[in-house]
Amino acid sequence: MPDSTIVCPQCSADVRLPDALLGTPVKCPRCYHMFRAPKRDAGGALTPPELLPADAYEDTTEADHKSARFRVQLPAAILLAGAMIALTFDVLTEMAIAQNPVEFRAAMKKVVLEAAEQQNRPDIAAQADDVVEAMIFLIHSSFVAASLTVLGCLSALAFRFYPLAIIGSLAAMVHLWAYGCLGGAPLGMWLLLTLLQRGSREQFARRSRPQSDGYNGVER
Ligand SMILES: [Zn+2]
Repeated sequence: MPDSTIVCPQCSADVRLPDALLGTPVKCPRCYHMFRAPKRDAGGALTPPELLPADAYEDTTEADHKSARFRVQLPAAILLAGAMIALTFDVLTEMAIAQNPVEFRAAMKKVVLEAAEQQNRPDIAAQADDVVEAMIFLIHSSFVAASLTVLGCLSALAFRFYPLAIIGSLAAMVHLWAYGCLGGAPLGMWLLLTLLQRGSREQFARRSRPQSDGYNGVER
């Protein structure tokens, strides 16, 4: 079946359409707006596409949208709880470092030296200062990852700023320090996989759409 390339009247994306669908209501794969596809006039030229009201010919019901949102909100809410706990620990640790960096490093070095002695590893004891700096770097990375995860979860719960939600789910997977034990990696993966689903992205598109479609602000 031959295809025609038409331009979405909402977002100007190029949309390939089988000729059989010309003149019918279609949904843009990029902005999810409904429009009536152009027809061929007698001369074979395409007529302009006609933008349709946001919910015209809506093939997904409000219940479908609700379950699409729930699929994202469930992992986002669980991950947010874990990330808040992790962020609390990270902030307390950062405050301890900021208050007395010398004392904090000395305390960490003591722990490293004791562990090296117990394991009978003079090589680690010799590099104790480097080990301490690496641990401080991990603490800072952990603080950044936990902050990004919290922001990403809030973004996913509100269906705003899709890239931030993606970054947050990735940050959850690299947060090794405090909530690896709380399942940051599997939860981040779960959130990422649901975010990448087409139905999830559509929920973000619906929220950012300037036109009111009778849904915005009704409930969350
Ligand atoms: Zn579009």
